[in-house]
Amino acid sequence: MNIKFSICLLLVSFFKLNAQSVVKSPDGKLAVSVSADNGMPQYSVTYNEKTFIEKSPLGLKTNAGDFSSGLALQANSVQNKIDESYQLRNIKKSNVHYTANEAVFSFTKEGRPALDVIFRVSNNNLAFKYKVYPQKETFSCVVQEEASGFLMPKGTATFLCPQSNPMTGYARTAPSYETSYALDDAVGKNGWGNGYTFPCLFKVNSSGWVLISETGVDGGYCASRLIGHENGLYSIGFPMPGENNGNGTTSPGIPLPGETPWRTITIGETLAPIVETTIPFDLVKPKYEASKEYQYTKGTWSWIIKMDSNTTFPVQKEYIDFSAAMGYETILIDALWDVQIGRDKIAELAAYGAKKGVGLYLWYNSNGYWNDAPQGPRGLMDNAAIRRKEMAWMKSIGIKGIKVDFFGGDKQVTMKLYEDILTDANEFGIMVIFHGCTLPRGWERMYPNYASSEAVLASENLHFGQQSCDNEAVNAATHTFIRNAVGSMDFGGSALNKFYNSDNIPNKGSKRMTSDVFALATSVLFQSGVQHFALAPNNLHDAPDWAIKFMKEVPTVWDEVRFLEGYPGKYVVLARRKGKKWYMAGVNAQKEPLELKLKLPMISEGTTLRYYQDDELLNGKIMDFKYRSKIGVPIKVPCNGGVLLTN
Ligand code: CA
Repeated sequence: MNIKFSICLLLVSFFKLNAQSVVKSPDGKLAVSVSADNGMPQYSVTYNEKTFIEKSPLGLKTNAGDFSSGLALQANSVQNKIDESYQLRNIKKSNVHYTANEAVFSFTKEGRPALDVIFRVSNNNLAFKYKVYPQKETFSCVVQEEASGFLMPKGTATFLCPQSNPMTGYARTAPSYETSYALDDAVGKNGWGNGYTFPCLFKVNSSGWVLISETGVDGGYCASRLIGHENGLYSIGFPMPGENNGNGTTSPGIPLPGETPWRTITIGETLAPIVETTIPFDLVKPKYEASKEYQYTKGTWSWIIKMDSNTTFPVQKEYIDFSAAMGYETILIDALWDVQIGRDKIAELAAYGAKKGVGLYLWYNSNGYWNDAPQGPRGLMDNAAIRRKEMAWMKSIGIKGIKVDFFGGDKQVTMKLYEDILTDANEFGIMVIFHGCTLPRGWERMYPNYASSEAVLASENLHFGQQSCDNEAVNAATHTFIRNAVGSMDFGGSALNKFYNSDNIPNKGSKRMTSDVFALATSVLFQSGVQHFALAPNNLHDAPDWAIKFMKEVPTVWDEVRFLEGYPGKYVVLARRKGKKWYMAGVNAQKEPLELKLKLPMISEGTTLRYYQDDELLNGKIMDFKYRSKIGVPIKVPCNGGVLLTN
């Protein structure tokens, strides 16, 4: 059967299905219906015939025309089959096979082409984007508003992270995706008045789960958020005018014809499709060739335990020795190295590290003109000529990567800065970590030298305050289902110090409430292709041998991920595979011990597993355990404890 003929057949079956326009996933379970009611484009979503998104608005308002009303849906919608295999070295799974049905719904306004809504429906995932056509002599436009909405069914619970007010927080650097989640909350709210940061998780009564996000956002558009309305409607919101001290517009500009980024919806009857989704990467393509083969590595950083005053030559040298002793390939030298170490001494450290197989990541302030963060180096990353000169210096002394901090905004101008830093860094063979930043949106695949992003209430807060330590387990049991489900998360954790102070002295600084097994488990749960763990040199003699041994071995990139058990904010157990080795990792945040008989379908009968577990006082131990599939693995994890199993 030739391709044309099969497309014809597909079109015929497509229109027979429903008088409305319907597009289904390859397995037929996920269905999207599209219509134009009174000229207003709408869509709704079902899975296994249960409604997950009620009839919700589509469309754009632009300065070249209002494409959210007065539209007519054309009958000649086109449907294509997508079948693509690709490699994903740095997140979730190494080989992805993406199959989907794509449908292009064309809308006209006053008889002229206005916009297409392009849907992609794969098993458990759907996404849509808009393509806007030129209007008369107009070949560019500003998108003033996106009408796209997500009306959640009655009884939906929400798991959302509020967007902060602009120019608030440390040195007026917010928003930077560092607020606390409200878990199991009701619909009908709007966070702190500014909506919610992506991704956004919903539990649709007893039917299942919905994760909403976006992907493919680059310098050609702004990043967006969800605005909450009454009755369970959420809609796409653009950045706030005050972001980045009011610099830059909130309305993205596009050429005509031109496209918006993808809005993504992952749907599951269980949480497995959420935890395992690759939709942020399925829909994007690499934007440039890697200038070299980048390495995803483990490392240490002194700042998280020892803070600003220890960004000094002797301490960084000690950390190079420490990383070498751990078999790690990098250290991260944090803020203030420009004044406290200086460029010549940085070059000396780089040369010293190179002899030991340890490369350097260097911290940079994103700029100087839109926040008050005083740490240097400042003003080197927001200007192409200066940035490229700086990167040439880095290349000359063999710097592996940079960590650029304090972005504080989602406007198109800021998204362009992220892209420009990545693009320039690739020319000099440098990997890039972002902190104080936005969510990565497909960047693992789009930018080959992209390493990771913070965009989470990360390990620094454990140092800054006891309350974060008290809530550590709740947060750790949340990220797998939300933040880390769609992008690399540079948490900078897995501390083995009992106390957050430079010498691990008891009762000084905040106290870690979680167990050592918990710390190890988060090195598997929290995924980032490049990791800088919060370990300290003293851990070589004050932490258990088995903990150090595990932290030496744990991979940072994986071939596969599988959800096993869990509930956001309460507990999670997942499995990641590297080669033939599986790492099952879990943590418990509930007051009562978590008791499960863990079934491991990926482990063959009689396999001896290494089993890391906590007693009720959170003292860890390891043992060997023979796997019997009929029984599973009986686990009992106390509050703030963890569990780990490896084959
Ligand atoms: Ca931060």
